[in-house]
Amino acid sequence: MEQPSLEKKDPLLLFPCPGCNAQLHFDPGGQQLECEHCGTRVAIERGTDQIRENNLHRQMVENTDPATTIEQQVYKCNRCSAETIFTSETPTFICAFCNFEVVNPVAYKTRIIQPSGIIPFVVDKQQSVSIFKTWLGKGFWAPNDLAQFARQDALHGMYLPFWTYDAQTNSHWTGYGGRYYWETEYFNDAQGKRQSRQVRRTEWIYRSGTYDRFFDDVLIGGTNELTQQECYSIFPYDLKALINFDARYLSGWQADVYDVAVGEGYTQAEAIMRDAIHDACAEQCRIDTYRDLNVNTQYSAQTYKHVLLPIWLCSYFYKNKKYHFLVNGQTGRIHGKKPVSAGKVVLAVLLALIVVAGIIYAGNQ
Ligand SMILES: [Zn+2]
Ligand SMILES: [Zn+2]
Repeated sequence: MEQPSLEKKDPLLLFPCPGCNAQLHFDPGGQQLECEHCGTRVAIERGTDQIRENNLHRQMVENTDPATTIEQQVYKCNRCSAETIFTSETPTFICAFCNFEVVNPVAYKTRIIQPSGIIPFVVDKQQSVSIFKTWLGKGFWAPNDLAQFARQDALHGMYLPFWTYDAQTNSHWTGYGGRYYWETEYFNDAQGKRQSRQVRRTEWIYRSGTYDRFFDDVLIGGTNELTQQECYSIFPYDLKALINFDARYLSGWQADVYDVAVGEGYTQAEAIMRDAIHDACAEQCRIDTYRDLNVNTQYSAQTYKHVLLPIWLCSYFYKNKKYHFLVNGQTGRIHGKKPVSAGKVVLAVLLALIVVAGIIYAGNQ
């Protein structure tokens, strides 16, 4: 039977070594390309241009604005359906999201919105492995066999897709500000004696105002492989370090393809802006308290950027449950939930009971 042949990869993503023609890798330590075979190093010159903001309406109306999209070869994991871009010639890769070795992945070309910015990896593999090992060793509750996951190959360096949105907002609000005042109230107590007490009342005053704010770079995760909560857990990224996208930074690394469409991401971003605007207007309306706040907002001049941010990811199954361990590839900040060992919990409960029994025994002496 004939093997399905893989299409040749996007030549954009292939950077052969000038010395030996092997594939060059981006090295976070030196922030340059490096050949693992002959040691040749190639500098990446950084442009000084500002990162381009794209017009959101044009993208949404024209669906795929040809000026901002590229045709890209993507590979789909046959176990978890994650879509990945990577730069290796072998028709095999380890899926970072389910740790499954994908042989002959489904590969196809698709038009995707081109990243306009990237934060290159700063934390290298060695550093991420030692962060992971320290984290594993810390918890008393983690099962002993978890340690086996600290193998080098369990951690994958991956660029995750994000959207950032800018918008000018102009809001008009109306509502009632409440001022507290105290009144003396008289009553008869149980003995029929006349007593007084202070009662808080609220005077409601109609108020209205305007609030204008420009939102810069509201960040939304573009992947469904991780929850927004997991993404937020390794925030912040220092977006000042964003540089213009250059495919050479992907050389030797994987990049996840976004699942969240640009318009869908904007809906999430607008909800974040709406909450922030509501809070700010509430502060304007409030005297001691407020009620019936009504905010009317015009959003305009919306722009977006598609950016790739670095992450070290370990996905593992423990007793049929999926766990993720994440390291922010720029700052080293970690997130992980450790499975709790049932045996260790039982042991701890027994120990606690023995201690309690001992205290009771000592108390009765
Ligand atoms: Zn070489
Ligand atoms: Zn997978």
